[in-house]
Amino acid sequence: MLAYAPGEQPPPGKFIKLNTNENPYPPPPPVVEAIRAAADGPLNRYPDPMATAFRRAAAEALELPGPEWVLAGNGSDEILTILVRAFVGEGQRLRLPYPSYILYRTLADIQGAEWEQVPFDDDWKLPPAFGHSDDSMRLVLLPNPNSPSGTVVLPDQVAAIAHSLDCPLVVDEAYADFAEQNCLDLVHSNHRVLVTRTLSKSYGLAGLRFGFLVAQPHIVAELAKIKDSYNCDTIAIAAATAAMGCRDWLVDIRTKMNATRDRMSTRLSELGFAVTPSQANFVWCTHTDGKHQAMYEFLKSNQILVRYMQFPEWGDGLRISVGTDEQADACLLMLQRFLA
Ligand SMILES: *Cc1c(COP(=O)(O)O)cnc(C)c1O
Repeated sequence: MLAYAPGEQPPPGKFIKLNTNENPYPPPPPVVEAIRAAADGPLNRYPDPMATAFRRAAAEALELPGPEWVLAGNGSDEILTILVRAFVGEGQRLRLPYPSYILYRTLADIQGAEWEQVPFDDDWKLPPAFGHSDDSMRLVLLPNPNSPSGTVVLPDQVAAIAHSLDCPLVVDEAYADFAEQNCLDLVHSNHRVLVTRTLSKSYGLAGLRFGFLVAQPHIVAELAKIKDSYNCDTIAIAAATAAMGCRDWLVDIRTKMNATRDRMSTRLSELGFAVTPSQANFVWCTHTDGKHQAMYEFLKSNQILVRYMQFPEWGDGLRISVGTDEQADACLLMLQRFLA
């Protein structure tokens, strides 16, 4: 099988890193304090297998009926692994939109399952085929906001898709903290809607590994049977629990990063890029001169890493993560030089 190829992770300090949608800012201070306190705790003991403290904190922060609506994972990638393992057997199928998050295909390959890609239309809307279903289709995955586009499918349409499918619909909300709307409410009215979240992007905790699922309690209870018994460690549980109490910090970081994103988008348009309106912490852009790979190389030779992406039969472009204002300016200046 083909391996999933994550974005480059060079040693820290050498590059301005705008290639994997990490937060350019450090995590909230109470999270760092919680990590220090946990390091002084009983690390000789196994962690709480169900991360109860985190589930309670998440249920409160997200106004869920209770902790039994939450399943904690070692990054939302682990939650996605659990979901694909649970629902998609050998010879069965999962569906994803195209272009989107390639990892889903790898997860299908591991199961000996097949994947079906449904292309977005020209303005990143989903065609009706995305909601069609048959016996062999066992799971449909939708990154929302999508990567690499940063575009969203509105909750009403997601609800309609979930309704027309006979299999579960995973709404991968890795970037939802940057978006205007999300699909969390749909979980209450439809047990087939499964929402995944991560602390990697909005909370600045990609190095920690923590993500979670929000679904109806009977689904969470079944999925818990499939996870590794101690899938989240003591330090990560303490950090993630503290993070759930930092809602004001989250509002501030979102305001700051979305302002940088909108400024980046405007400037890229002025430089002649077509920029897809983004509701995430990155922008997807293409240039009429089409030299995206050369732009990527030029930026890299100037210690700026962005993601060059090429989707067969679809096209290529640059996905640039939202950095600090200084990082964004450095990247924009280099692109201006390249185009001069
Ligand atoms: C980054 C990302 C994830 C992975 O999040 P982790 O919690 O770091 O595993 C999942 N889905 C999408 C669409 C992402 O971009």
